[in-house]
Amino acid sequence: MAHRLVGVARDLAPVFEKRAAEWDRTRNYCWDNVRALTDAGIMGMSIPQAYGGQGASFLDVAMVVEEIAKVCTLTARVVVEANMGGISAVMGYGTEAQKAYCARYVLAGDKPAICITEPGAGSAATQMQTTARKRGNRYVLNGCKHWITGGGVSKLHLVFARVLDEAGTEQGIGGFILFADPAGGNVPEGFSVAGRARTMGLCGMPEAELRFKDVEIDAQWLLQPPSGLKRGFADLMNAYNSQRVGAGTIAMGVAAGALEHARRYLLEREQFGRPLAEFQGLQWMLADMDTQVHAARLMLHDAAVSGGAGGHAFPDMTTAARAKLFASEMAIKVVSDALQMFGARGYGDEEPLERMYRDVRMFTIGGGTAQILRTQIAGSILGIRTPQARDGYAEATAATRLAAE
Ligand SMILES: Cc1cc2nc3c(=O)[nH]c(=O)nc-3n(C[C@H](O)[C@H](O)[C@H](O)COP(=O)(O)OP(=O)(O)OC[C@H]3O[C@@H](n4cnc5c(N)ncnc54)[C@H](O)[C@@H]3O)c2cc1C
Repeated sequence: MAHRLVGVARDLAPVFEKRAAEWDRTRNYCWDNVRALTDAGIMGMSIPQAYGGQGASFLDVAMVVEEIAKVCTLTARVVVEANMGGISAVMGYGTEAQKAYCARYVLAGDKPAICITEPGAGSAATQMQTTARKRGNRYVLNGCKHWITGGGVSKLHLVFARVLDEAGTEQGIGGFILFADPAGGNVPEGFSVAGRARTMGLCGMPEAELRFKDVEIDAQWLLQPPSGLKRGFADLMNAYNSQRVGAGTIAMGVAAGALEHARRYLLEREQFGRPLAEFQGLQWMLADMDTQVHAARLMLHDAAVSGGAGGHAFPDMTTAARAKLFASEMAIKVVSDALQMFGARGYGDEEPLERMYRDVRMFTIGGGTAQILRTQIAGSILGIRTPQARDGYAEATAATRLAAE
């Protein structure tokens, strides 16, 4: 399957490449590309065939993402979020009704938004204040999420909240599948998009603040993790390991794209009467870049298959954390080195390098910072819950790992 899907992605890449600067300049969401991805069956390709998808594995998705990230980081993010993360959580843990409902939207071109981060709860995500209190057969959602990728353009939202019973007693953290279509003017009462961050890169993707004021959700849209709400956040975050593989793959793909630009330029540009490609200083830089990209690719592919057989066995937490950490830091360096090889030209916007450099800077921050990933990896090596993670996101995921052993 990977071969065919990668072929489809390669066919689309030249068009995506031409449009990439426009999304960056206008800060518009890449709707044209989303339509092309939908028509090509790439939106929701990881959804099982029983729900209308193609049952592509995370490795298949990663291979497609790399091809697209080489030319357009923004579009690659759409592909990741339409196949990994929120939609994986639903496909892994959802009821039949939840799976069928979400599959329908994603296959029609929706990129679900995953809503965890709050102004007071970033790395320490379990300190979230958003609540969902039971009232009859509904939950009432109150709170605020920020830095939500796709906020304002996504229709499906997986909103994490503290689940309270009717008496107000906390049951744990759960995820709610919430439909809200601000672009189409169809949102539940009390839901609002309160603002959009201006970002240095990935400019066509809205990073929005979402507010919930007494938003009512039918109880059937609570995504029930297998071991119940008490450990709900840890279980649901397992699904997030696939998104980490996706994010790392985007970073690696951008680096691979930059490497290719650099390779061509070294052969073409002459100084001192010779092509740049003949200078050993640049040859060795290029060799290091290539080696680093290749190492990241192997780590990411390893992580993509680390969940075992079956498309929706989630990647192992530590393997995914390692791969994302390595790929995201590697990509910043490799893209910077590629830009360096272009001299002044790389610093200007005639070439895509400056955009790629701004885009790729994000991947050591979003989806678990490099510091938090190191904390998780160290915790896993040592077999302990590290003190700096005790109240946070790392604890929840490390706990899953430790419990599984
Ligand atoms: C472009 C982008 C898209 C995003 N998309 C989403 C999204 O769709 N959904 C969503 O829910 N969130 C999203 N986020 C939010 C992202 O997950 C958070 O930014 C991230 O978890 C870090 O939280 P913070 O920004 O509040 O930083 P903080 O947690 O305040 O951290 C600040 C700094 O301190 C470091 N730090 C914090 N704790 C520790 C520790 N224990 N040990 C060592 N260092 C530590 C961090 O690594 C960081 O360098 C996105 C962020 C970005 C930039």
